[in-house]
Amino acid sequence: MSERGWSGDRTEPEADSATDSATDVVSPYPVADDREVEASLRPRRLTEFVGQPRVREQLGLVLESARRRGRPPDHILLSGAPGLGKTSLAMIIAAELGAGIRVTSGPAIERAGDLAAILTTLVDGDVLFIDEIHRIARPAEELLYVAMEDYRVDVVIGKGPGATAIPLAVAPFTLVGATTRAGLLTGPLRDRFGFTGHMDFYQPAELEQVLRRSAALLAVRLEPDGAEEIAGRSRGTPRIANRLLRRVRDFAEVRADGVVDRPVARAALHLYDVDEIGLDRLDRAVLDALVRRYGGGPVGVSTLAVAVGEEPQTVEEVAEPYLVRAGLLARTPRGRVATPAAWAHLGLVAPAPAADAPSLFDRL
Ligand code: ADP
Repeated sequence: MSERGWSGDRTEPEADSATDSATDVVSPYPVADDREVEASLRPRRLTEFVGQPRVREQLGLVLESARRRGRPPDHILLSGAPGLGKTSLAMIIAAELGAGIRVTSGPAIERAGDLAAILTTLVDGDVLFIDEIHRIARPAEELLYVAMEDYRVDVVIGKGPGATAIPLAVAPFTLVGATTRAGLLTGPLRDRFGFTGHMDFYQPAELEQVLRRSAALLAVRLEPDGAEEIAGRSRGTPRIANRLLRRVRDFAEVRADGVVDRPVARAALHLYDVDEIGLDRLDRAVLDALVRRYGGGPVGVSTLAVAVGEEPQTVEEVAEPYLVRAGLLARTPRGRVATPAAWAHLGLVAPAPAADAPSLFDRL
């Protein structure tokens, strides 16, 4: 398998460099040296890919039947949160097909010409991976429809009434699109994918498996209880698990005897401000303000942001998604509300609803 060019085209949403390292350590986006290390930790074959049993099985069938027919498989869409393994799967698809892969991203394709240049130089059977495909520019998207359906691009020469479209052939290829926001994909684009794989967050046991594999590749001595401790704080995300493993390894090498067990993992993650369920300093500050200052809400996001000294956008995009997923915070039309689990996480008891508070039955 050849992995040619284009990687440089990727403009990925990196974690905001303005946020401090305590926030970065649990960011689902690649930060600092992640990209380099991740390349060496990526699973290479479908059998090495941990978790996602449904997607793996479905994809296995799609690839096997394509191999038997000797034709490229249908175009494949992978959707799911950042860090769950979409890029890794795209590379595995190419490896399993014995095909070359070209990698680019939606934001890197600003003009139709950018995409035409890539498409017309594809080799028969190539995989074209477009990350963040929902961010592709509209004229390029229209060009992509025709390429996906008819293996053709129409290059328009000239402007106005004298313009002519010259059709160019595109070698049969498989598009693998990845998106963190499947809902933002236009209908016509979504319809042109023959297979969609939805990636879920990982179970702790699956993350332990990811960690064991990474530890072996990085020559880290990881004890089972150390793996369990790190997995529980990784927010269901392999990218975060691998990053925490590296931070704990550093700590183990400098402050301990190099072995990562539960006490070492706990001490290291305490130092990095990552608590037992993977909340960092900002997440806890948001919960704390919501519960202690505003009695559990409802409170508006801007008020909450002022209380923790952050921009509303940072609270909304960095802290809230995981707090909502962890069942600690609810977004309601009247503002943010802490759930009883949030109170419990802070060691407090949620107040019982007032006796005269409207109940569900009042509305019946
Ligand atoms: P995405 O493209 O969804 O943001 P990536 O494919 O870049 O995610 O995955 C980030 C890192 O997490 C990879 O370097 C890889 O090491 C690890 N990873 C992701 N999914 C898995 C998995 N299922 N098994 C093992 N490692 C994984």
